[in-house]
Amino acid sequence: MLDLTQHPHRRFNLLNGSWVLVSPHRTQRPWQGQVERAAPEAQPEYDPGCYLCPGNPRAGGVRNPPYTSTFVFDNDFAALLPTTPAEPWSRAGLLIAAGEPGICRVCCFSPRHDLTVARMSVADLKLVVDVWAEQHAELRSHAGIQHVQIFENRGAMMGCSNPHPHCQIWASSSIPPEVSAEVHQQEAWRSGHGSCLLCDYLALERESGERLICENESFVALVPFWAVWPFELMLVSKRHLAGMDEFDDTERLRLADILKRVTTRYDNLFAAPFPYTMGFHQRPADGAAHPEWHFHAHYYPPLLRSATIRKFMVGFEMLCMPQRDITAENAAARLRAMPEIHYLESGA
Ligand SMILES: [Zn+2]
Ligand SMILES: [Zn+2]
Ligand SMILES: [Zn+2]
Repeated sequence: MLDLTQHPHRRFNLLNGSWVLVSPHRTQRPWQGQVERAAPEAQPEYDPGCYLCPGNPRAGGVRNPPYTSTFVFDNDFAALLPTTPAEPWSRAGLLIAAGEPGICRVCCFSPRHDLTVARMSVADLKLVVDVWAEQHAELRSHAGIQHVQIFENRGAMMGCSNPHPHCQIWASSSIPPEVSAEVHQQEAWRSGHGSCLLCDYLALERESGERLICENESFVALVPFWAVWPFELMLVSKRHLAGMDEFDDTERLRLADILKRVTTRYDNLFAAPFPYTMGFHQRPADGAAHPEWHFHAHYYPPLLRSATIRKFMVGFEMLCMPQRDITAENAAARLRAMPEIHYLESGA
């Protein structure tokens, strides 16, 4: 009898159609690899050298306004440019490319250099959600834009050099492969079962409870059955919503609430600022209705066993498939046990 708590096995990611190898028997193996230095804790409220702080100069001599809540601007080093010709390109059918026009913006969550999502108030985070909804609605209406990706890279370990709380918004003229795979999988489920993949999945997870972390009236945080990263997490809306443009005001507030709660749990896990890449997956902006699409967010954090020990995707994982030792159920149990008062505010 296959025992998912003992035997090496692979799990299928129904949302993107990939597999992950799980090796639960290896969790006690000793670590002799790289040790990452924990990021220094104390940041000033204002950093004169930060290109995101209010009133400071950015690249090319532009100066930030003295903003007092959120602030959005076009990325000075944009990966996508609106003026690119949207033309296919190929040589002998072997070399294939396509021009990718697009728009890249940066969104500062707060004028405070030292804050993080976990340490902002729910009321202030609600203003950030409002800006995301606004940006998403505006960018998806641009001619030629097919997808809008809002994402946050947090921490030096994730390649984010600036601790100022901010995210990026990339609007592209094609549907990126990861999103396209999720469209395909959700469509396949819908045509095969006549229901929504994530509505059905969420119902199953809420029934078992073993991978749930926390919830409010509108959102559930869970470690997906098929998680790759040790403490990977997904936020799923309870209502079948395709994007933030379908949220009512209360749902925006509850999204702010759950964002604060999961990032607080993350920071508390190793009593250190927890690095991650997170992003919202909303229905593509290609003009189709996408009845199959269910709003969710992914958190991909690299940490494994402490604030300094990270997971690497190497070897078998680069060549074959990702692998994990700690099971999704164990990770969920640990995150579920975390308090929702931030360790820096608990006086401990
Ligand atoms: Zn700053
Ligand atoms: Zn659904
Ligand atoms: Zn997704």
